Amino acid sequence: MGMKQFHTTFTKAIVLICYIVQAQFHSQAQNIARQELNFPDIPGFVTLKCDFHTHTVFSDGAVWPSVRITEAWRDGLDAICISDHIEYQPHHKDVNTDHNRSYELALPAAQRMGILLIRGAEITRSMPPGHFNALFIKDASLLAKDDFMEAIQAAAEQGAFIQWNHPCWDAQQPDTVRWFEEHTRLLAKGYLHGIEVINETQYCPEAQRWAVEKNLTITGNSDIHDPIDLFYHSQHIKRPVTLVFAREKTEASLKDALFERRTLVVSGDVYYGDSALLATLVSSSLKASPVMVYGQKEAFITLTNRSPVPLHLQFSNNEISLSPSDLVIPPGTTARLQLNGYANLPAGKLIAVPVHILNAFTLPETSLKYVLKLTLNP
Ligand SMILES: [Zn+2]
Ligand SMILES: [Zn+2]
Repeated sequence: MGMKQFHTTFTKAIVLICYIVQAQFHSQAQNIARQELNFPDIPGFVTLKCDFHTHTVFSDGAVWPSVRITEAWRDGLDAICISDHIEYQPHHKDVNTDHNRSYELALPAAQRMGILLIRGAEITRSMPPGHFNALFIKDASLLAKDDFMEAIQAAAEQGAFIQWNHPCWDAQQPDTVRWFEEHTRLLAKGYLHGIEVINETQYCPEAQRWAVEKNLTITGNSDIHDPIDLFYHSQHIKRPVTLVFAREKTEASLKDALFERRTLVVSGDVYYGDSALLATLVSSSLKASPVMVYGQKEAFITLTNRSPVPLHLQFSNNEISLSPSDLVIPPGTTARLQLNGYANLPAGKLIAVPVHILNAFTLPETSLKYVLKLTLNP
């Protein structure tokens, strides 16, 4: 082998090694990558992505507590609650039955990865009254009471935020979905603060209606028992997320926001929640360009979706309309629309165009009415 040939072979070998190293590094990097959920913040608040209902081997889940933290980090979340059942511990022959243990084991991982870990538990009864998550408790063992009201009271005395879980779960409400006297009693005592509008992949329209009627905070949670990839990602569905609008990313701010009902729910690319909050998030997500006028008649705008959820817009045909009048703007993309009726534009520089956001629900079957504000290019 001549020197030149040796060099060529040597270079090839080095290049090959680089490829192999890079490929290995790449696959490792992919395995531990965090999928960022880039929901924009809204004026005055940061948008925290949360899952307030998960299980581990310390109740009927199939994973170790610290794994829930890694999964949350990978799924782009800011906060989770491990809410193991108080009354149901099928692994008790193999695993410690201390109700605080899952939180304690997950906490170091949460602190390392910047995930807010909420101490919680699921108070588990047949219907009525059903299952309830108590969040922000200090000692889960105090919730182990035979009497349901005593268990709830023990949570409330610790300053807990208490939510009714999965009111639509057909194992508990097979025929109709009812609000029972027990729930009225909880509400009257100030022991009921929130309700799950989404549990796993199930939307509960009654829960959304009750939340509006009774001033409850809405949440949407995975209630994950399996490793998260076995349930959600393998079926190409996303874990539901509760968006919490907090003054800052701290447990105290998160708790305030939950009690002050500043939440929205996202599941399967659909938003649920209060119309004012939804409109604020849409206005932070959807950026309109000024109206660009060409010649006498033609005018265009662009709309950019800066959120991780597609936005489905439907414009009604008014004096001024936009075409296409029905369109989906995928995350991180910009659509170009023609502004019709430009010749009839009112005097002044601001144009308000009403639009329905068809994948944002303020009530069951009621989509968000939004006003798109456009300015004329100077
Ligand atoms: Zn449950
Ligand atoms: Zn559960």
